[in-house]
Amino acid sequence: MKPANPGLSASGTTIFEAMSSLAREHAAVNLGQGFPDDPGPLALRQAAADFVVHGHNQYPPMLGLPALREAVADHQRRLYGLDVGAAEVLVTSGATEALLDCFMGLLDQGDEVILLEPTYDTYAPVIRRLGAVPRAVRLTPPSWELPVDALAAAFSPRTKLLVLNTPMNPSGKVFTAAELGAIAELVLRHDVYAVCDEVYEHLTFGAARHLPLMTLPGMRERVVRIGSAGKTFSLTGWKIGYITAAPALLRPIAKAHQFVTFTSAPSLQHAVALGLGNDASYFRGLGEPLARSRERLAAGLGALGLPLLTCDGTYFLVADAAGWMRPDEDDVAFCRRLVLEAGVVTIPMSAFYLDAPPRTLIRFCFCKHDATLDAALERLTRRFPR
Ligand code: PMP
Ligand code: GLN
Repeated sequence: MKPANPGLSASGTTIFEAMSSLAREHAAVNLGQGFPDDPGPLALRQAAADFVVHGHNQYPPMLGLPALREAVADHQRRLYGLDVGAAEVLVTSGATEALLDCFMGLLDQGDEVILLEPTYDTYAPVIRRLGAVPRAVRLTPPSWELPVDALAAAFSPRTKLLVLNTPMNPSGKVFTAAELGAIAELVLRHDVYAVCDEVYEHLTFGAARHLPLMTLPGMRERVVRIGSAGKTFSLTGWKIGYITAAPALLRPIAKAHQFVTFTSAPSLQHAVALGLGNDASYFRGLGEPLARSRERLAAGLGALGLPLLTCDGTYFLVADAAGWMRPDEDDVAFCRRLVLEAGVVTIPMSAFYLDAPPRTLIRFCFCKHDATLDAALERLTRRFPR
């Protein structure tokens, strides 16, 4: 038999799937894969169900239901003052598809793509599969500041685009206005595009505020903005995402979309359109309960003596587990042992690095009920008493 594609065959199963399988197998508390305990707003689930029973369940338009495209545009106008129209919005099957569409639509063989490490796990394999070349610029723990000089040095005449994920998974970093200004300046200077993965746009804590790169001068025509209903409405299984970009950028991206999924379930698109119609105060309030969950987990892990890294947004808190690890162990082996010996699932941070990863950092997901967080902390306390 002839071999399948060697690049993809060489990839393992994603760390999220691997660790969630392990959680099921060992009845462990799953603080690995990022999904909330919260079932999501009842009104949206009811609207989707009603649509399935009473609506038109055939192919929706390829670019998305007009009501959802309008709702996405309107939401950005209201929250960020972005002057976008529904014609500049494309609905996708989650941000995962949106990213693939952007990479397929914009990249050519040999193009270079700048990624900021730690980097979400789907970017690099897809970029490589398309014949493009990822170039990583590393943010340094524990504060995850952007090394602007290293970023500037990563650009070459072959650079086509930069991928910016803010708020950032897995670090929990929210890029500051000054950092975004530096990125915008480099994007302009080198005449490149930016694909902005903003799926955690509403999940920020305290004084941290999400600012879309697209709102900065000169960025409107160069930035592709990606959002996801999964994160905004705690409905990760729905896989409804949306892309906003100027027509010249959206056109090639839509060409990819038409061959990848063509469209997504109309019932879910209809319900997400209703959800995006909520007042700005609804979205501004989403961070607060999550911040409380982060505090609960942080207090518990802190009491166990685990050093914690800065986290201003997302679902995720990173800890340095060196004190719990064996000398010969890496983060992957440790996370597996944590499942077997403590019954708690986390994610090894090395999954988010292209090479030479840090070996003692692990990611905890805190978008969980208090009882889930407490159960995990109790198990960890039993295994690693102080
Ligand atoms: N980007 C980032 C940074 C993510 O964390 C995730 C996963 N939640 C996605 C994209 C994929 O989002 P979706 O579930 O909408 O495909
Ligand atoms: N984004 C989720 C996380 O970081 C995982 C999504 C997935 O499993 N594909 O945990």
